Amino acid sequence: MRSLKSYVGGQWVASSNRAATLYNPSTEEAIAEIAAGEVDWKQVLAYSREKGAAALQSLTFAQRGEILQAMAKTLHEGREELITLATQNGGNTRGDAKFDIDGASFTLAAYADIGAKLGDTTILVDGDPEQIGRTARFSAQHIRLPRAGVAVHINAFNFPAWGLAEKAAAALLAGMPVISKPASATALVSHRMVEMFLEKDVLPEGALSFIAGSSGDLLSHLQGQDVLSFTGSSDTAKILRSTEGVIERSVHINVEADSLNAAVLAPDVELGSETFGLFINDVVRDMTQKTGQKCTAIRRIFVPDERVDDVVAAMSERLADLVVGDPAADSNVRMGPVATETQYKDVRAGIERLAAQTDEGFGGMGEIEGRGSKDGKGYFVGPVLRVTRDAANCDALHSDEVFGPVSTVAAYSGSASDAAKLIQMGKGGLVTSLYSDDRSFFTELVPLVAAFHGRLYLGSEKMAGQSPGPGTVMPALLHGGPGRAGGGEELGGLRGMAFYQQRTALQGDKAILAAITGVK
Ligand code: NAP
Repeated sequence: MRSLKSYVGGQWVASSNRAATLYNPSTEEAIAEIAAGEVDWKQVLAYSREKGAAALQSLTFAQRGEILQAMAKTLHEGREELITLATQNGGNTRGDAKFDIDGASFTLAAYADIGAKLGDTTILVDGDPEQIGRTARFSAQHIRLPRAGVAVHINAFNFPAWGLAEKAAAALLAGMPVISKPASATALVSHRMVEMFLEKDVLPEGALSFIAGSSGDLLSHLQGQDVLSFTGSSDTAKILRSTEGVIERSVHINVEADSLNAAVLAPDVELGSETFGLFINDVVRDMTQKTGQKCTAIRRIFVPDERVDDVVAAMSERLADLVVGDPAADSNVRMGPVATETQYKDVRAGIERLAAQTDEGFGGMGEIEGRGSKDGKGYFVGPVLRVTRDAANCDALHSDEVFGPVSTVAAYSGSASDAAKLIQMGKGGLVTSLYSDDRSFFTELVPLVAAFHGRLYLGSEKMAGQSPGPGTVMPALLHGGPGRAGGGEELGGLRGMAFYQQRTALQGDKAILAAITGVK
């Protein structure tokens, strides 16, 4: 059985304060273990700060971009092996594994392109020069430079490849060394990714470290120039935010947490229209892709009262065709198990809570025997669609993120302002998708809900053929959301680097500023 170690201080070492076993969620067989050991986390941070930061900050954006390009290429070359590991350790179908792994290389490549465009410089100019004196001589310019510390990344279990890559891309391009910790239960893919990067020698020493298992007291040693970026549950976020060292030294922290993402069908959308087809495709995909274990998955589907039966029927028809089972045992399987036993129990409990306040739409309580499963093994949950005609009083709908293939169709009046009130009951989300061919529906609804989201997806006939759906996070667009979603911001092209940089206002003689920034 594979033994997973951490890559810290320039070597592979056992560092977790507890051993852990990784399982295949389709068969419940043990496939790897995280080795227990001791490490001095203060030293680990010091090594990254000294070695990694120095190496990265001696490079221009273009050169850092070349590193990201080499990382993307490495993942692409190792793609088949990583897909196999994602199926073993995450229960991923081939499509789900590609979504994670190709998403990782695509995001690295996108940041490599940004690096190439920024070119042979190390200072990012922020905005235009401004005259602040009587004459143009006395001038000001904002600049951004990397923080002189380490970027600690802690990721959720559902995207072991993309999670590592999307955070690392922005940090490394900005010039900060990274220490990345995946969730223990699905660490196999990210562990192998780091092995591949080392085999190909694509990164400077100290630029990327990796934690297998727990991070011990690492967070308590963070300093004011370090940053912490976390993706996971709100409960863990609360613990991390309240770590003594983090509070005391004002460590910058970015949180990507839960989200009860919504989709809204406008009353103008006719059954059988292209926009209706886009809506059904998106909601079914986002309910079932990665077995619903996606932070961007659609949990609340708001539909005009008179369309509820049609939408439930159209979705049920699609869901009935979905083969659930062990992706490694049968190539017809389109949805694998949830990732862990804990996850299985949480999802089952979440369905119970939702069922107490909603009616059945499809799939009962999610009981299912996975195709290809042996002796009833495997953490399989069938797709579950619930229905409510009293959305405003259905607490579970707006407060409980059931992190599995579970979604609810909820009736609303058809007015944009009513839709907005219901969307806002989610208390802040990553993405909401709106479907209409009536521009006035968008112009009325967008200003009412934009403040509650990092991203709004506007589905209509004209873009239907080109859209990957709201659940796909794109490197050029912001990822994150206010309130319940954690209040964080990632990606968004250049914007994604801001977290890893200090913005500094320079004021002085225009010619001196120009000599520093290169801006005439
Ligand atoms: P989790 O239980 O909160 O764990 C997330 C990460 O935190 C794991 O790496 C975990 O490590 C680590 N962790 C837990 N306690 C810690 C501590 N005291 N100190 C340091 N690290 C600690 O969340 P999860 O179950 O993996 O992920 C599911 C949740 O993530 C869902 O709520 C989902 O909505 C959210 N999510 C959000 C996004 C987004 O972008 N907004 C994306 C994906 C998922 P161990 O595994 O070693 O315990």
